[in-house]
Amino acid sequence: MMRSMCWGGLLVAVGVTLAPCTLAAPEFREPTFPPGIDVSGMDSTVAPGDNFFSYANASWLKHNEIPADRSSYGTWGLLQELVKRRLANLIQDSSGEQSAQPEARLIHDYYASFMDEERIEGLGLGPLQPILQAIEGITDRRNLARFLGGKLRADVDILNATNFYTDNLFGLWIAQDLDHPDRYAPFLLQGGLGMPDRSYYLEPTARMAEIRAKYTTHVAAMLTFAGVSDAATRAAKVVELERRIATVHWSREASEDVLKGDNHWRRRDFASKAPGLDWKVFFAAAQLPGDQQDFVVWQPSSITGIAALIASEPLATWRDYLVLHALEHRAAFLPKAVVAERFAFHGTTLMGTPELRVRWKRGVDATNEALGDAVGKRYAERYFPPAAKTRVEQMVERLRAAFSKHIDSLEWMAPETKASAKAKLVTLKVGVGYPEHWRDYSTLKIEAGDAFGNFERAELFEYHHQLAKLGHPVDRSEWVTTPQTVNAFNLPAMNAINFPAATLQPPFFSPDGDAAHNYGAIGTIIGHEISHSFDDQGAIFDATGRLRNWWTQEDLAHFRTAGARLVQQFNAYRPFPDLAVNGQQTLSENIADVAGLSVAFDAYRAEVPQSLESGDDRFTGVQRFFLSYAQNWRTKFRDPALRMAVLTDGHAPDEYRASTVRNIDGWYEAFGIRADQALYLPPADRVRIW
Ligand SMILES: [Zn+2]
Repeated sequence: MMRSMCWGGLLVAVGVTLAPCTLAAPEFREPTFPPGIDVSGMDSTVAPGDNFFSYANASWLKHNEIPADRSSYGTWGLLQELVKRRLANLIQDSSGEQSAQPEARLIHDYYASFMDEERIEGLGLGPLQPILQAIEGITDRRNLARFLGGKLRADVDILNATNFYTDNLFGLWIAQDLDHPDRYAPFLLQGGLGMPDRSYYLEPTARMAEIRAKYTTHVAAMLTFAGVSDAATRAAKVVELERRIATVHWSREASEDVLKGDNHWRRRDFASKAPGLDWKVFFAAAQLPGDQQDFVVWQPSSITGIAALIASEPLATWRDYLVLHALEHRAAFLPKAVVAERFAFHGTTLMGTPELRVRWKRGVDATNEALGDAVGKRYAERYFPPAAKTRVEQMVERLRAAFSKHIDSLEWMAPETKASAKAKLVTLKVGVGYPEHWRDYSTLKIEAGDAFGNFERAELFEYHHQLAKLGHPVDRSEWVTTPQTVNAFNLPAMNAINFPAATLQPPFFSPDGDAAHNYGAIGTIIGHEISHSFDDQGAIFDATGRLRNWWTQEDLAHFRTAGARLVQQFNAYRPFPDLAVNGQQTLSENIADVAGLSVAFDAYRAEVPQSLESGDDRFTGVQRFFLSYAQNWRTKFRDPALRMAVLTDGHAPDEYRASTVRNIDGWYEAFGIRADQALYLPPADRVRIW
């Protein structure tokens, strides 16, 4: 794909006005995907039974480079790039409809402010000064508590979009109370690390030691921007403080355990359970409600440990720590020297990405982040035709029916457990394309020429939107994502699913395309999301979203044994000689892949019985189904990004997700897999969970 400076260059030249950069510019030309499987990307010299991922993808992987501004690339990345170009066109068009549409003005002003690099350079660190002054004014622990509370944001999500990471010291998630599904609760999470996971601070390997040294240099550079003297010494103290925070942090694997996380604390309990932070001052500054409010404290010993550090570590170190994070968090809206320094560490050192994305791509992402629904409404109108929605909804119902049949046919499951599972399946709320209701942005203030302030206000607007849910009935129709997101989501406690419009198009789906391809590509993703309601986490929520064991003892034991076999299967995959996939950390996703694949296979069979199946020149329908699945996971990674994914992602690397086919009997028949081939599993070792 070509890249040029079209928008960036012209916009700098003309200030905040969107230049009439024509749609014919190479930057925004939309790539097209041929329908069906990509035969040219396969490698027929590889035996499907030895490496199905390579058989389906090796030729594409060999002939395509990861673009310089990405850490990974493949089917999902290609579609993300297409959507980004469409959004750039959409945002550009919003300048023409400003008078009629107040939201169009918000979109235009947010984006144009971001693109006005000249003005951002001119302002320097000026916009950050009020925050730096507030940090300088922290002269006692009470002030520290007030500052931390004031900076709390709704920036994590434990179950739906599974974002456990926040660079704020604590993260907040407002969601359905797992014990009382009729109301919302505030969930408090650990946070505060500048690097992606505790292992980056604690692992004694040479590789991690090198990253830590580079991080300390980066911290010193950021402190220097803020005018901090003796930055090298003070940076070392900040990194040591973060190391202590990492020591009390829970691992990603432990954080995924819902039963360990569902701890209810009253607001008044915090002072005795986590002494060290003035919680009263903290909660008041965070505008969280009164003494009777119940909180869910996800990693209690971590919250206690961080609170103790607030009391024990020198205030001066805390101030430097806050200066660092004030800069890191807002770097995208500051001058390019700050942007470049941040990218050199977070992009290149941590992810291996050589080049920063061109400015218009960052502008599209920032606008999307701030005004997701306003942009998404336009995206869905323009790019998601009613025929696509109808066809996907039809496939969803076929998949639901196939899942129901699977439940009926499970020999080991007791009738009462089956009845609960089916109740859950029937009430599962499936959102296709876009939400039923759109967010109202009328109270959000976006000002032309104030990129920094716009970001701050948009983040606060989101925080207030989330806080406002407390005390109101749970809205099961609300989405956790936007229509223009290339992904799909299960909301286990809400017993709901979101399939964004941007995912429901080639190369995953075409409304009138080959059924084998549609079921193998998007059908397995839909099946995957449905089955999250029944994976190791989904299986502990009932149909109302209450965290409740609805299993008999024997059924649960059987389920756990099957899960343990899948853990072993994935523990054996080694992307690097010194680093294996964590089968426990990725268990939920792996169960969802196995179940999604087998249910989609049956749904395909229900729609196209063997007698009606059309072969094309080279492949039977069943072969096209499995190839489409393996091509979903066509991805190449830069090594550092792959290492980070193995350590922090709930999903196994894509290559191993493609190998899930080895658990499905139909795959063995379709490709004539032999017992001497690498992926072969004896029937007894194939994991069947649903
Ligand atoms: Zn998933």
